[in-house]
Amino acid sequence: MNDRVRQIVIVGGGSAGWIAAARIAAAHRPDGDNGVSVTLIESETIGTIGVGEGTWPTMRNTLRKIGISETEFFRSCDAAFKQGARFTGWVTGKPGDSYYHPLNPPQAATQINLSAHWLRRQDGAGTDFAHAVDFQSALCDAGLAPKSISTAEYVGLANYAYHLDAVKFAALLKKHCIEKLGVRHVIDDVTGVKLDDAGFVTGVEARETGLLSGDFFIDCTGFAALLIGQTYGVPFVDCGDVLLADNAVALQVPYEHEDDPVASQTNSTAQDAGWIWDIGLPTRRGTGYVYSSRHTSHDEAEATLRAYLGPVAEGLNTRRIPIRSGHRQRFWEKNCVAVGLANGFLEPLEASALMLIETAVDFIVDRLPQSRAVMAPLARQFNAAFEHHWARIIDFLKLHYVLTKREDTAFWRDNRDPATVPDRLLEQLELWRHLPPGPQDFPHQPEVFSWPSYQYVLHGMGFECNLAAGSQVTAEAALAQRCFMATQRQQEQALAALPSHRALLDAVRVHG
Ligand code: FAD
Repeated sequence: MNDRVRQIVIVGGGSAGWIAAARIAAAHRPDGDNGVSVTLIESETIGTIGVGEGTWPTMRNTLRKIGISETEFFRSCDAAFKQGARFTGWVTGKPGDSYYHPLNPPQAATQINLSAHWLRRQDGAGTDFAHAVDFQSALCDAGLAPKSISTAEYVGLANYAYHLDAVKFAALLKKHCIEKLGVRHVIDDVTGVKLDDAGFVTGVEARETGLLSGDFFIDCTGFAALLIGQTYGVPFVDCGDVLLADNAVALQVPYEHEDDPVASQTNSTAQDAGWIWDIGLPTRRGTGYVYSSRHTSHDEAEATLRAYLGPVAEGLNTRRIPIRSGHRQRFWEKNCVAVGLANGFLEPLEASALMLIETAVDFIVDRLPQSRAVMAPLARQFNAAFEHHWARIIDFLKLHYVLTKREDTAFWRDNRDPATVPDRLLEQLELWRHLPPGPQDFPHQPEVFSWPSYQYVLHGMGFECNLAAGSQVTAEAALAQRCFMATQRQQEQALAALPSHRALLDAVRVHG
């Protein structure tokens, strides 16, 4: 029997569906030796989630591989640069409580772990960790861009990702897929899924179009999880007992003045029952309150968001989005793999959803199954990798909550309850009380959040580490000192050389 994979059907046209279509079609053209045809079907009546504005630096590679120029991307998607996240009010909730998780790793991260050296320097009055080990937080403070207008596309002086308009982003990908990459686009509702005797999907039934046959199916139907959940019945693993937020209320607001500065970091500001995201695009801000409905009411949550925004929010409508934190128990069944919200979702605290879509699609593109014979081993690999990713991302998100010293509301107190903390995170925190995180703590490759990210959050949150009991790192003190001084020098040079974020965005949008 000839079971070569020739036809790929993607169900769903949100960011997940279009990223998958674009990456596969760009890498495996239908006319090549191993070519495949890509069809994407999306419903006109079931909308996309339409949020998801924070990305990771991986998006630069994704866009480059798809063949979209960075200038075109900025112009089409109302995009801005993202250099990290600033967390305000997470430690004590008192004035001045703020730290960065920048995208740059600490200085000389491949040669030296600066964490213990920074802790030794601290005698009460030193520079905070993020500013001591890297210059990017200072760029964010000053409202500067990570590159200048003459720097090549997709290259930066500092590492960067993007903030973008999710609806415009999906539209750009759709246009590129249809016009440049030969993706077949069907607008229709899928009403049924056809399986053969072995349990493989052979086609999806669409209301008007009839049967769409295929050899390999990608479920990008968002929370509906039409294939992986509804058809295959793969259970959902709920982690609402660890991550307590279960709702978001979102609101897009204009700037007060059109030349107001554009933040180049996601601002995440802690509130009584959750936190508010604030993402600056060139023409507007995207904001939302992620909250626990066990700790506040929907009306109070909306009032909190409006109070945070002030007069710019007056008369504008909010949108409420329920959040069910968790993921599928398996992500790939037979000849069907789930990508995007159908795969799982966690609160957007570190903007990991689009990055996980890119990770899934990288796997699919690199290891595109040629026939049914390889489906089962590939499914095992993919499932093991994603089980790991979800567990570790849950740990990392919980880290932001569990280290708080806030006592003021039940939400923050409940978040510290050890019963809500995954065992592995508890064990790591015990170790990190004596030895700051290092590469040895993260042997899995690739690791979504590795030791630099943990260091930024642990030190930002003021985690106490008793070095005397654990670390003996003194031999590299001279190198560490040179690294701290190099950071200072780079900071001065970058502050003098780089344009304001707003000025660079204006230049890219006008001149390219
Ligand atoms: P959707 O956008 O929901 O698309 C589903 C698609 O499936 C639609 O096209 C729909 O028409 C189609 N469909 C469904 N059923 C059928 C059917 N029966 N027949 C045909 N078509 C069907 N991610 C980040 O990376 N960064 C962030 O900052 C971020 N912030 C977020 C904030 C919030 C409040 C939420 C809820 C999510 C956030 N995300 C973020 C996640 C991000 O929005 C999603 O991961 C991303 O948009 C991908 O969504 P999707 O394509 O999987 O699903």
